[in-house]
Amino acid sequence: MDISESLKKRYLTIQNNRLANVFKVQDEIVSSIRAFLKGEGFTEILAPIIGPVTDPGIRGARQATIDYYGVPFKVMSSMILYKQMIITALPKVFALSPNIRLEPLETVRTRRHLTEFRQIDLEVAYATCDEVMDLGERMLCQVIVDVKAKCHKELGERCKTLRVPTRPFKRYTYKEALEVLKGIGMSVKYGEEIPWEAEEAISNVHAEPFWITNYPVTARSFYYMESEKNPGVLEDFDLIYPEGFGEAVSGGRRENRYEKLVERMRRSGEDPSQYGWYLDMLKVGIPPSAGFGIGVERLTRFICGLENIWDAVPFPKVAGVLSP
Ligand code: AMP
Ligand code: MG
Repeated sequence: MDISESLKKRYLTIQNNRLANVFKVQDEIVSSIRAFLKGEGFTEILAPIIGPVTDPGIRGARQATIDYYGVPFKVMSSMILYKQMIITALPKVFALSPNIRLEPLETVRTRRHLTEFRQIDLEVAYATCDEVMDLGERMLCQVIVDVKAKCHKELGERCKTLRVPTRPFKRYTYKEALEVLKGIGMSVKYGEEIPWEAEEAISNVHAEPFWITNYPVTARSFYYMESEKNPGVLEDFDLIYPEGFGEAVSGGRRENRYEKLVERMRRSGEDPSQYGWYLDMLKVGIPPSAGFGIGVERLTRFICGLENIWDAVPFPKVAGVLSP
């Protein structure tokens, strides 16, 4: 069966014992993250599913729109704008947040893109990048410790090759990452997002997770804080898994100043008038914050050592495939 046929017949392939083991590991991953974040003083909130606007920074994917009483509403591509609202009430929050992104058809080839996926999305008022990066490192290490201890049988052979990473994780700036890429024969133009193949290539030459920080303003969305010391560069970060598994996390410090945000929206080609409630909220005032989202299916793929992300979710949705 080709990928498309096997995904359309999920009611057959889902009976495979290998998948049942993956879903048991995934259950432990989510439990472990919840326990870890509760221990760090976080409150879990319910994620929004639809709203007038959603995250525009989704790298060539289209947003899904529904008719909401005659008004077009978006299905969340990420809850970033809402995280900036909730931290006015709760300083440390997270949600298991479902996202829809109509990814380009070619993303089937990356083996790490779904069109419906979930993030553990967290945000901390007044935090720095370093603080949430440290939290992310400890969280990933704890999840791996817990899964290795509790899912030995389900992980099978992967239990041996999956090691608890050494902290602190290595850090490259975006600029340094382009140098690493050049060294392995991949040239990426400064100012652009790192393409899927290059992301996989740099991941492939690492045996431990690592960070890429300080992307150029032109590569990312308006809500990341631009560095005061280093204009043109953002206070943001991605965590990249080793062994070719690619991006795990994106996050950063958030811009919270109304004027700056409007200017950044204009620079990134967004129409501020589309962001009614969000800009009204900024005029009232919100605290600065930092946070990140970690894709649950990608984390499962990495932990279980799966070739394809569609085996890391019970009911996969892959670009262009009309599966259940
Ligand atoms: P982003 O804000 O676009 O970086 O998304 C946050 C995280 O969600 C990423 O680091 C991935 O772990 C995950 N993610 C993003 N897009 C997808 C996708 N199409 N399929 C599965 N996971 C995704
Ligand atoms: Mg990202």
